[in-house]
Amino acid sequence: MILKLLIFAIAGVMIYKFFGGKLPSISKSASEKKLDDDTLVECEKCGTYVTVKESIIVHGKYYCSKECSV
Ligand SMILES: [Zn+2]
Repeated sequence: MILKLLIFAIAGVMIYKFFGGKLPSISKSASEKKLDDDTLVECEKCGTYVTVKESIIVHGKYYCSKECSV
């Protein structure tokens, strides 16, 4: 009984370590991808902070609105 639990515990740790080495890189790239849309960027003209998703990118610079990007 105890030996069985021990084997399960070791197997659990091995699985945890196996995924522990892999999962962070997956979640990191996923969070980085999500961060792109929600990252706050400063408007090049008026300094207003807007998310990348809402901003207008002109020549690699971020603007809060069409008026600022002109
Ligand atoms: Zn602006």
